[in-house]
Amino acid sequence: MDSVAIVTGGSRGIGRATALAAAKRGYKVVVGYASNKAAADEVVATIEASNGKAIAVKCDVGVEADILHLFKEADKFGKLGALVNNAGVVDKTARVDEMSAERLVRMMNINVVGSILCAREAVKRMSTTHGGAGGVIVNISSVAATLGSPGLYVDYAASKGAIDTFTVGLAREVSTEGIRVNAIRPGLIDTDIHASGGEPDRAHRLAHMVPMKRVGTADEIANAVVWLMSDEASYVTGTIFDVSGGR
Ligand code: NAP
Repeated sequence: MDSVAIVTGGSRGIGRATALAAAKRGYKVVVGYASNKAAADEVVATIEASNGKAIAVKCDVGVEADILHLFKEADKFGKLGALVNNAGVVDKTARVDEMSAERLVRMMNINVVGSILCAREAVKRMSTTHGGAGGVIVNISSVAATLGSPGLYVDYAASKGAIDTFTVGLAREVSTEGIRVNAIRPGLIDTDIHASGGEPDRAHRLAHMVPMKRVGTADEIANAVVWLMSDEASYVTGTIFDVSGGR
């Protein structure tokens, strides 16, 4: 396969696992990262050690110029076949009556606007309407979109609700242009994101609330992402897939 997959936030956690899984399936991978160059370089080195191809590109998805740069670098690398809109942030645990406007704007800018802008750039390249050869987009949502995350981060949950709606709308918009668009809603997954919310042990502490009574791994999300990217999912579009141990 001579197809490029962009994974935003590919340096750590679910994005890292997805980058490695996509490379295993033959994609040339563009590993986006916000600031942790060492982590992104490690992902590239791991892919290259297995004879895969990857490059790391710094891209804060909250900055449009960074997104344009990311896609330009991807264009130099090969023909874009897949985008995984994985980059996303939580903030410190808070009630809505404590949230500042700055917090909300940052959250929506990274989680929602960033994903939509990346999808815009992908559609410009993949859509048969624009002379492209088609492709796939997988958006990383969260079960928070259905739970609402009261008392924790309702803003984050709302941003993921927007991703779900965006997934359905974009999928239908480009359904005859060779592009499939789907989303995954991960449950409690063992990554660094819980530490950035101020609670490093959050996933394990809440594992008892999951019907399967355990947290999930980044690989378990990545497996679902690469299936959605594959031809095995050729009739799947506009779908939002819970990968959450039953939660
Ligand atoms: P993580 O371990 O905290 O990793 C975050 C990744 O995103 C890193 O590669 C980071 O880059 C990158 N990133 C952070 N801010 C960014 C920005 N502004 N622009 C571009 N990249 C940025 O997170 P994760 O748990 O793997 O989460 C990945 C996705 O899954 C997110 O969308 C999250 O909402 C979703 N999710 C996670 C869980 C969970 O339990 N872990 C559950 C549901 C949904 P650097 O390495 O450069 O910092």
